[in-house]
Amino acid sequence: MKISRPQVKTLDRILPEEPLLMMGAGPVPIPEAVAQANGIVINHLGETMTEIIGQVKSMAGYIFQTESPWIVGVAGPGSAAMEMAVANLVWKGTRVLSICNGFFSSRLAEMAVRSGGVVEKLTVPESESVDPSQVRNLLEQMQPEVITVVQGETSNTTLNHQLKEIGELAKEFGACLVVDAVCTLSTLPLNMDDWYIDAVITGGQKGLSSIPGVSLVAFSEKAWTRVDQREGLLPQWTLDARLATKFWHGGSYHYTAPVSGLLALHEAMRLVCNETLEKRFERHEKCSEGLQRSIETLGLELYVPKRARLNSVVGIRVPSGLDGKAICSHISKNYLVEIAGSFGPPIVRIGQMGEQCRVHNLFRTIHAFGSTFNDLGYHVDVPAGMASLETVLQYQKV
Ligand SMILES: *Cc1c(COP(=O)(O)O)cnc(C)c1O
Repeated sequence: MKISRPQVKTLDRILPEEPLLMMGAGPVPIPEAVAQANGIVINHLGETMTEIIGQVKSMAGYIFQTESPWIVGVAGPGSAAMEMAVANLVWKGTRVLSICNGFFSSRLAEMAVRSGGVVEKLTVPESESVDPSQVRNLLEQMQPEVITVVQGETSNTTLNHQLKEIGELAKEFGACLVVDAVCTLSTLPLNMDDWYIDAVITGGQKGLSSIPGVSLVAFSEKAWTRVDQREGLLPQWTLDARLATKFWHGGSYHYTAPVSGLLALHEAMRLVCNETLEKRFERHEKCSEGLQRSIETLGLELYVPKRARLNSVVGIRVPSGLDGKAICSHISKNYLVEIAGSFGPPIVRIGQMGEQCRVHNLFRTIHAFGSTFNDLGYHVDVPAGMASLETVLQYQKV
């Protein structure tokens, strides 16, 4: 049978004339330098690529705060980097403690089970950070070889702010600590070496403000020894961290690297280095504080109490009688601002990652967000919300 060719619309008939402002839970807006780099294709091997990979690794060392040389990338989403970390450290019979705050941290547990691990879950109550003393109890009971945890649980907007304490416990009990920092990397402090973290996972499209599809994992010396001394071959050839070093450390072929995405990531990381981590964290804190205050001033409620609240993605409780999907769809169609719904909790989410944390983006978003509630018949005080945003952000040059 012959398949006839389809009639397709050109992209300019599908995409809106004015780009949507991406203020959801990722992907986030990308800087011009990242967009330009993403439009280039070069040889995936050779001197130029080797130099670019060298710079990506040294910038990653700064952004992860690690001296470990064991930084590798993967052509794939943040989830591929999660799987690369988990599958290389967990095999049949490995005892794993998975700290689960929600959707993404549970995905790490699921991956550990699929890798053959014997997985114990520590389920943290909604809207709370994990308590290190509970982790200690479980470490004493089960002596895990691997611990998985998320820094920021994007799905319900909670933060685990005691990673340092958990890292110290991992060191004391000789376990490898795997941290998912897909959402949070470069938005708030994470000190891989000082906090004794053994694997840090990140994606491109969130805190780093690059494109989706190219991700990084950094392994500590301790984790790398475990990866390297593994008995038997990893079943997933593409995710094999040892094979990845052919490209990431040897300048030779593993698979064809996502060249454009790597160039984009290089530019995104270069911008992080230019800004400095200190200034970047300050910008994120200030902008997120402005967002949170103005939402409360509008008359809406933040989902997570301050002590466990993630700054990088902010969850707003949907008032009863309103529907989260309707809010997201209205703000997108009428104000060309994209925000995120949720995977369960009664919230909508606004991101504060990378380029989302700019004063002009915040003013447009709060105006659009407040107006959406008024349009849908739920009264909020837009002028007061805008004023409180200005009060927090005035004189901020971001
Ligand atoms: C977005 C996200 C992921 C998954 O990233 P993908 O690129 O969608 O695979 C994992 N963990 C956290 C914390 C995230 O925010």
